[in-house]
Amino acid sequence: MAYLTLKNINKIYPNGFHAVHDFNLEAEKGEFIVFVGPSGCGKSTTLRMIAGLEDISKGEFLINGELANQWGPREREVAMVFQSYALYPNMTVYDNLAFGLSLQGVDEDVIDERVQKTARILGLTDYLDRMPRALSGGQRQRVAVGRSIIRKVGVFLMDEPLSNLDAKQRVTMRSEITQIHRETGATTIYVTHDQTEAMTMADRIVVMKDGYVQQIGTPRDVYFNPVNMFVAGFIGEPPMNFIRRRVENGCIRVGESQLDLSLKLGEKVNEYEGKDIVFGFRPEAIQLGQQENAYVLSGTVELTEMLGDNANVYMDVDQDKAILKVSPHEIPQMDSEISFSIPVDSVYLFDGETEKVI
Ligand code: ATP
Repeated sequence: MAYLTLKNINKIYPNGFHAVHDFNLEAEKGEFIVFVGPSGCGKSTTLRMIAGLEDISKGEFLINGELANQWGPREREVAMVFQSYALYPNMTVYDNLAFGLSLQGVDEDVIDERVQKTARILGLTDYLDRMPRALSGGQRQRVAVGRSIIRKVGVFLMDEPLSNLDAKQRVTMRSEITQIHRETGATTIYVTHDQTEAMTMADRIVVMKDGYVQQIGTPRDVYFNPVNMFVAGFIGEPPMNFIRRRVENGCIRVGESQLDLSLKLGEKVNEYEGKDIVFGFRPEAIQLGQQENAYVLSGTVELTEMLGDNANVYMDVDQDKAILKVSPHEIPQMDSEISFSIPVDSVYLFDGETEKVI
């Protein structure tokens, strides 16, 4: 049985704003689930409903098969880490970690053991006597995470816990949180708008937009099998390239290239005759030059960015913009005309009207 079940969960705020529509999810015990989507899509609202900090307007929330809509946060056995981590400024790291357990009346010996263990997991052993003001942002964040993992809870809820850290600290904390998750085995729900965090940390990703779940799947699923243009464009960096054209005689024309869509769609192409279709390909899916079993396009190089292990090439392709990812040894000249190929298998076609993958 799933540990957490969300059945048609909705949130309508008192001002009438419908922030979350029919959210469905079953999270297994120990799973690491990431909610991802642009600002305002309803990630935090959903998380707060799971935490018991926000009423569920409609739908059922179950923990271990029991209806938990009316349970308070404590009964739900959840611990939450927020974006702004409020530590007690006049307490040492040790006391910050121990505080919650002391309140619960846990034995001193047990508290000490858990503080030491938590500090070890988080690399805070040398800082236990320090005050929060004498810590770096990353260290403070670790104390905040420590305060939640020191309690033995069933579920960790994390709302953008890394957003106050610099890029380097974020990468470090990312792998630390993944490791802590592995060690504690607690079911974790993690909210972020950063698709890299979602891809690197999640067992499964929930992609949201405008209060609606777009897709739920493993990082591989959402990357290789996006259900619509939104997911295809949101997951992956740089994002997928899209070229919208009208289908004529089973083909679309992009500059000088006549692309035969039956290679990809077979007979189904007939359903799209005279309609718009969106031709999508990832920057990293291309090869320079003309290859076999591929769609070949050409365009003008407008800008190149050398990134070290690869390079981004910004192209004008028949008045559409596209980004190509190439090896640093094959960066083309600015303003040159180049051809590139996309293997038929790496092309995504979307219905121009519904924006769903075909
Ligand atoms: P962000 O990444 O910016 O935190 P989010 O995806 O977490 O965004 P939410 O904070 O869940 O989004 O907000 C979802 C929508 O609900 C937003 O449009 C927001 O303005 C709205 N909203 C949030 N809180 C309330 C409230 N108390 N009353 C009315 N609307 C609200």
